[in-house]
Amino acid sequence: MAVTVEYDAVVVGAGAAGMAAALTTARNGLSTVLIEKAPVYGGSAARSGAGIWIPGNEVLLAAGVPDTPAKADTYMAAVVGPEVPAARRQAFLTYGPRTISFLLRWSPLRFSWMQGYPDYYPELPGGMPDGRSIEPRALDANILGAEFARLNPSYVPTPAGTVVYDVDYKWLSLIARHPKGLATATEIVLRYLQLTAAGQKPISMGQALAGGLRAGLLAADVPVWLDTPLLDLHVENGRVAGVVARRNGQETLIRARRGVVVGSGGFEHNERMRKQYQAAPIGTEWTVGASSNTGDGIEAGERAGAALGLMDDAWWGPMIPLPEGPWFCLSERTLPGTIFVNQAGKRFVNEAAPYSDVVHTMYAKQHIPCWMVTDQDYRNRYLFKDLAPLLPYPDAWYSSGALVKDWTIAGLAAKIGVPAAALRATIDRSNAQARSGRDPDFHRGDSTYDEYFADPTNNPSPCLAPIWLPPFYAFKIVPGDLGTKGGLVTDARARVLRPDGTVIPGLYAAGNASAAVMGHSYAGAGSTLGPAMTFGHVAGLDLAATN
Ligand SMILES: Cc1cc2nc3c(=O)[nH]c(=O)nc-3n(C[C@H](O)[C@H](O)[C@H](O)COP(=O)(O)OP(=O)(O)OC[C@H]3O[C@@H](n4cnc5c(N)ncnc54)[C@H](O)[C@@H]3O)c2cc1C
Repeated sequence: MAVTVEYDAVVVGAGAAGMAAALTTARNGLSTVLIEKAPVYGGSAARSGAGIWIPGNEVLLAAGVPDTPAKADTYMAAVVGPEVPAARRQAFLTYGPRTISFLLRWSPLRFSWMQGYPDYYPELPGGMPDGRSIEPRALDANILGAEFARLNPSYVPTPAGTVVYDVDYKWLSLIARHPKGLATATEIVLRYLQLTAAGQKPISMGQALAGGLRAGLLAADVPVWLDTPLLDLHVENGRVAGVVARRNGQETLIRARRGVVVGSGGFEHNERMRKQYQAAPIGTEWTVGASSNTGDGIEAGERAGAALGLMDDAWWGPMIPLPEGPWFCLSERTLPGTIFVNQAGKRFVNEAAPYSDVVHTMYAKQHIPCWMVTDQDYRNRYLFKDLAPLLPYPDAWYSSGALVKDWTIAGLAAKIGVPAAALRATIDRSNAQARSGRDPDFHRGDSTYDEYFADPTNNPSPCLAPIWLPPFYAFKIVPGDLGTKGGLVTDARARVLRPDGTVIPGLYAAGNASAAVMGHSYAGAGSTLGPAMTFGHVAGLDLAATN
């Protein structure tokens, strides 16, 4: 090994967890280096919508959200279940708000409440129908200087001349239906014009989040070494004392006087690990996570003796395998006028349920792929991906097999290989339910959550509409994800544990490299980024407090 360098803290991965950790160690006086495998920083965080679920933070309280620690605790306990130790849930709820306050102090990030975006189970005790998620406000990319060019691009680039927030999507999809749709479209252009007139280069959502964290690191003088993958952890006398990385083509030992934080994301792009740990059918083609997330930190931690948890699970979401890449099907699925059917031509799930739950059901019942059946009335009404209402779906979607069209239900059934009589019966039944405004079969529309990406102008239910106007369409639906959620098992201080529950000295993990504090569930919009940054912060604080 040719080169050896030394810092107090070595952080692996320049995503949400890693950047929060490095900012924390640096602002607590530790010399810190952050190594990043990709030629860009930001990981999945930069690609994301940047919703952040952290109950009781100061942004929510300032907005008048009636959240309390007791409510949050009750809700988390109900959602997450007993498999995540209460101490870890408690650490998240205690340190989450402190993480937001820390970021407000030491980075240019500013946040807004995503008002009206419900918790995913708002009817559970402590759940909030108006939500407790926040998102970054637009950030001026000028503060990043040359580093802006090295920010990982977003999954859905916002159209030129606009500044779009998460909370805008709901209304943009209703542009042809509701006056607030057009008003929102106007507002996102005006927002852009105002900010650019003030000399800003505005970025939003995941770009703002990752850019803001990076700007914090710039101000704190933390070196971020791109193109520098972790190869292995360096262990001395049972203690993690650094990492071996490849830097400038050379194997480099980076010693860590205090410890190492693994924030290298999940294993969504590791075909072998996915097949080893997860249920079939699985591969790497349906994920939208950052392509550099191949589980390197998880494997290195395991070699150092760590226990692994939740490896079978992911931040799932129904995905349409479009030829340009998998499309995370969110509002498209929950707007009225769609149903999911299995190969028997039958419904099997509440299509508007939280994305993770829909895929858990797809796997549990082995309905993979399934089909989202819809009609021309739906196409005339709503934005679909970036396709304005009324416009024809692209030819390439048909030729790839992701989309099928026919003028009759029987014809559609034949093309997707389901029994025609069964599909006809399913559509007749769901049409009758749509006209009555109730879905006693799968309870679509019973939860406030179901109504978020729905159509308030549709009667009698904003969630249910008949499928009646030819031509009819069927989109192929596969189990995709935003990334995996299993990894190194950690304690309430983000310290990595062995299978016997003892701590591996010097080793911390946060974000998708660690087993999620959410367990198998998903509490609300931002349930991955909120904990990732929180446990990155917790790891940094613990390192700073350790001799
Ligand atoms: C399209 C999309 C939308 C999303 N929207 C949301 C949302 O609104 N709210 C939410 O909470 N979550 C959302 N997510 C999920 C969220 O972005 C991730 O769960 C989160 O970023 C995980 O944080 P992390 O720090 O663990 O990983 P990441 O942010 O992915 O960062 C991991 C970093 O580690 C680096 N790395 C990997 N291997 C190595 C190695 N060997 N050496 C050094 N570095 C390495 C990677 O290159 C990457 O930069 C979304 C994800 C996507 C893809």
